[in-house]
Amino acid sequence: MPDANLFTALRAAFPRDLDATAVETADGPGAPAFFTWRDLDRASARIANLLASLDLPAASRIAVQTDKSVEALLLYLAVLRSGHVYLPLNSAYQAAEIEYFVGNAEPAVFVCAPKNFAWISKIAFRAGTKNVFTLGDDRSGTLLERAAVQPDEHTVAPREPGDLASIIYTSGTTGRSKGAMLTHGNLLSNARTLKDYWDWRAGDVLLHALPIFHVHGLFVAIHGALLNGSKMLWFNRFDAKAAIARLPDVTVFMGVPTLYTRMLAEPALDAAACARMRLFISGSAPLLKETFDAWTQRTGHTILERYGMSETVMLTSNPCRPQDGARVGGTVGYALPGVGVRVHGDQGQPLATGEIGGIEVRGPNVFAGYWRMPEKTKEEFTADGWFRTGDVGRMDADGRLTIVGRSKDLIITGGYNVYPAEIEGLINELPGVAESAVVGVPHPDFGEGVVAVVVRQGGAALDGAAIAATLKGRIAAFKVPKQVFVVDELPRNAMGKVQKNLLREQHRELFAR
Ligand code: AMP
Repeated sequence: MPDANLFTALRAAFPRDLDATAVETADGPGAPAFFTWRDLDRASARIANLLASLDLPAASRIAVQTDKSVEALLLYLAVLRSGHVYLPLNSAYQAAEIEYFVGNAEPAVFVCAPKNFAWISKIAFRAGTKNVFTLGDDRSGTLLERAAVQPDEHTVAPREPGDLASIIYTSGTTGRSKGAMLTHGNLLSNARTLKDYWDWRAGDVLLHALPIFHVHGLFVAIHGALLNGSKMLWFNRFDAKAAIARLPDVTVFMGVPTLYTRMLAEPALDAAACARMRLFISGSAPLLKETFDAWTQRTGHTILERYGMSETVMLTSNPCRPQDGARVGGTVGYALPGVGVRVHGDQGQPLATGEIGGIEVRGPNVFAGYWRMPEKTKEEFTADGWFRTGDVGRMDADGRLTIVGRSKDLIITGGYNVYPAEIEGLINELPGVAESAVVGVPHPDFGEGVVAVVVRQGGAALDGAAIAATLKGRIAAFKVPKQVFVVDELPRNAMGKVQKNLLREQHRELFAR
């Protein structure tokens, strides 16, 4: 059987000219810095040799919580080629969270930012992790110091498709975060599918401005560029002005919706700035129809929205090539080739076209289960082997999927189902509204009461009671928010997802008797 290590496939896609630039830094210390394809190979080989020198058990977890840098990318590649398991952690996590992840994953190695060494090493050593290295975003730290004396040639550890490549802890907005186990086969099959579906081609250059502790920036973006032998223009931090200024140097951009709204707020964003662009991709959170439309109007480009999650990598996508169809705002497109997507009811029954239900998936992209949670894993799969995404949506007659919300965000009030996305969509269309979030909070009579939190646009004067009154004539009374709060912004996590759990928490006493 040929080696199925993802790194082997990525390296095979490096261009023939290994001295060409693979990554150019756009910000951070020493920018612009240039890394050739040969650099990616040799520098990741050095780190892989360092890992080999530690005599780790096979498939050790390598936990990484650092600031974004090209060296952190090299570390990821090193872990892949060494056959160990990459465990990236959100750089915002603090002691209680790190303690949980280290206890749960038992990593053999922890790589942290130099500034965090004191407290992280304490937690890690206490939990039995023997090796803690540091890596700064300015090439400082013990990881690179120790790797520098290692040989720059390394034989890739052969892997089978079912071998673990990475564990991604879910954002855990409810309950304990779970480690989604992704295999070399999961990641490679999805990367190959996307390379084809998104029509990656010679000359493409990716602007990389997403964090690399999450599927979007780590897998979708990096694998996309590497598997196409495409250069990346690398931002350690997203800055709307700086990103727009560099659009003429790239052809592909991937962002969460927040990045698009921030760029739209810049007058410099126009058609001329985007003249060389081939593709704008959005995902990780719902892209407002308004943002989708505003982007087309301003730049002449139609954003391609796709849908995926840690457990499955990418699932559906709006088309890229015109012959595959149009990109429709508010929908997440079709199931990717080779991926099965269906919508089923509460009792597991198939639903008719257009009916709202749970989104279920299967395919070579679907993860191997939750780390050390066999029971939880079993619960999330149907008897016939489909993974329950926890997202709620509906499928059009032509197979386009629209996401209506997370099943846990579904509101049940007086026995009626309310889908927050429906109400949010209506509120967002009202004048003076930038966006909104609708949640359910405990209600003594109805079980849950509908509450809306609305963000005003610019300095618009908004009145919550007036918004509720406007909705009253348009939708069933049980769907109308019993209370509408007007705020300046919604709480969001690093991937731009609205943290509805925080809103529910904030308003949980609202209807208490
Ligand atoms: P994560 O595992 O952190 O990537 O979160 C995955 C979740 O993000 C999915 O289950 C969806 O709820 C949400 N999500 C991802 N992409 C989209 C999208 N294009 N539209 C709406 N929700 C999305």
